[in-house]
Amino acid sequence: MVLNLFVTHRRSASSGDVTLENGSLTQPLTGSPSFWRRGTELVSRWLGLKLPASFIVQDECIVKASKALELYFNRAADELDTPEWMRSLLLESKREVAVQVTFELDDGTIETARGYRVQHNNARGPMKGGLRYHPQVDIDEVRALASLMTWKTAVVDIPYGGAKGGVAINPRDLSRKELERLTRSFVDGIHDIVGPDKDIPAPDMGTTHEVMAWFRNQWEKYHGFNPAVITGKPVEEYGAKGREEATGRGVGILCIKLLGRLRAKPRECPVAIQGFGNVGSHAAKYLYESDFPIHAISDLSGCYYDPQGLDIPAALRHSLKHGSLEGFTGGERLPADDLLTLDVKLLIPAALGGVIHEGNVDKIRAEWIVEAANAPTLPQADDMLRNNGVIILPDILANAGGVTVSYFEWVQNRQHYRWSLDRVRQELEHTLSNAFEHVWREAHARQVDLRTAAYMLGIGRVQRAAELAGFVAH
Ligand code: NAD
Repeated sequence: MVLNLFVTHRRSASSGDVTLENGSLTQPLTGSPSFWRRGTELVSRWLGLKLPASFIVQDECIVKASKALELYFNRAADELDTPEWMRSLLLESKREVAVQVTFELDDGTIETARGYRVQHNNARGPMKGGLRYHPQVDIDEVRALASLMTWKTAVVDIPYGGAKGGVAINPRDLSRKELERLTRSFVDGIHDIVGPDKDIPAPDMGTTHEVMAWFRNQWEKYHGFNPAVITGKPVEEYGAKGREEATGRGVGILCIKLLGRLRAKPRECPVAIQGFGNVGSHAAKYLYESDFPIHAISDLSGCYYDPQGLDIPAALRHSLKHGSLEGFTGGERLPADDLLTLDVKLLIPAALGGVIHEGNVDKIRAEWIVEAANAPTLPQADDMLRNNGVIILPDILANAGGVTVSYFEWVQNRQHYRWSLDRVRQELEHTLSNAFEHVWREAHARQVDLRTAAYMLGIGRVQRAAELAGFVAH
C-alpha cells in the first residue's frame, strides 16, 4: 500500500517560524475520506506532528472519477456504435488553459497559485461549468469534470456545451479580501476566453455567490456590462431566485419521477441521505415535504438515525444555527459511514465522490440509489449493484437541477427580465421531468441501465450537433 502525505507550510515573515498550513493525503486505496482523515490524525499524533484544521483528505477520487467517466462513455458509445474517430473527437477537450494566479496576502507577501479552465465541447452551445477552489485541483481533474458537464447539459437538453475550471488553493486559508484578490487575478488570466456566448462559469466546491460577483465585476472591467458572463450570482446582483435550492430540489423531483415509474408510494419508501450541505439538506426538505420517511441523514459529524422517521425541519434549524448536525439529538447517532449500509429503500449519496466502492458495495441494502453527488459510485461497485438489480439514477441526470437553473439565470440576464420563484420551480420541474422520461424510455427501448441510457442520450445529442454543424471535415 502506498501512502503519500503532503503537508505545506508557511514561513512567518517576522519571526521566521515555520507553521503547517494545510495538507493532503493522496492514494487512499480503500475506505472513505473520513476513515483516512481519522487514520492520518492518529498517525500524526503518534509522530508528534500537529495537523492544521485545514487538513484535507482527497475526497473526490479524482483519478478514479476520470477513469470511471471514460468507462461509462465507452459503454454508451459501444451501444451507439460510435466510430473510433468520433470517440476521440468527443473525448478530447477543445481548449485547455493554465494560468499563473498571483495575488497579495493581507501581510503584504505575494502568493502564486495555478489556475485552470478546460473547455471541453461547444457543439451544442456556449460552454458551461463551475469554478472550484481546492488544493487538489489539477488539469486531470478539471478535464474530467469538464467532459461530465458536456454530457450533463446534453441530457437535460439545455443549449450548452461543457467546461470546468479551478485554482489549486485552499480557500479556508484565505481571508475574504485575499479570496477577492485571488479571484480578480484569475479573471485577469482567463477573461478573454470566457463570456456569455463562449463559456459561462458558475460556483463549485470552495466558491460562493460572492466569488461569482467579484468575477463578474472584474470581467466587466475588460468587456463592459454583461451579467450573463457568470451564473450563481447573489440574487441582488442579477442572480436567479431558486438557484441555491435547485440541485437538491431537482434530486427530490427526480426521486418522485422514479417512484412513479416503479409504482411505489413515498410513504413506503424509507430514505437515507449522505451529506447535509447545500444539496443534501434541500433534497431532504423536498422529500420530507413530499411525505417520504427520512430514516437517516449524515454529515462529517456523524449519522443520525430514526427508523420512525426524522424531524427534518428540526434538523434544518439545528444545522442552520450550528453550521452542522453536530449535537443534533433528534435521532440515534452512528458513525457517518454507517448511513450507506442502513436498511432503507432509497439511498441518496449527496456528499463526496467514490463513496460506494468495492469495499462496501456488498453491504448496501438499498434497492434504489439516486446519485446527488458527482461520481459517488466507482465502476466495479456499479457493476455489482447492477448485477444485484439495484436501480441507479446517475449523477449526470440526478444533480442536473443546478446547471438547469443556472441556464434560467443566464436567460433572465440576457432578457433583462426577472422570473418569479414559482416560474423557476415550474420550469425546473418541466425540464427535469422531460429528461427523466427520455432516459427512462431509452433504457427500456435499448435494454440498458439508466446510466448507460443517460450517457447514450447525451453523447448522441452532442454527436448529432457536431455532425450538423459541419465540425467534421469531409
Ligand atoms: P456542501 O459542501 O454544501 O456539503 C457537503 C456535505 O457533505 C456537508 O454536509 C459535509 O459535512 C458532508 N460530508 C463530507 N464528508 C462526509 C462524509 N464522509 N460522510 C458524510 N457526510 C460528509 O456540498 P454540496 O454543494 O452539497 O455538494 C455535494 C455534492 O453534490 C458534491 O459531490 C458536488 O460536486 C455535487 N454537486 C453539487 C451541486 C450544487 O449545486 N451544489 C451541483 C451538482 C453536483
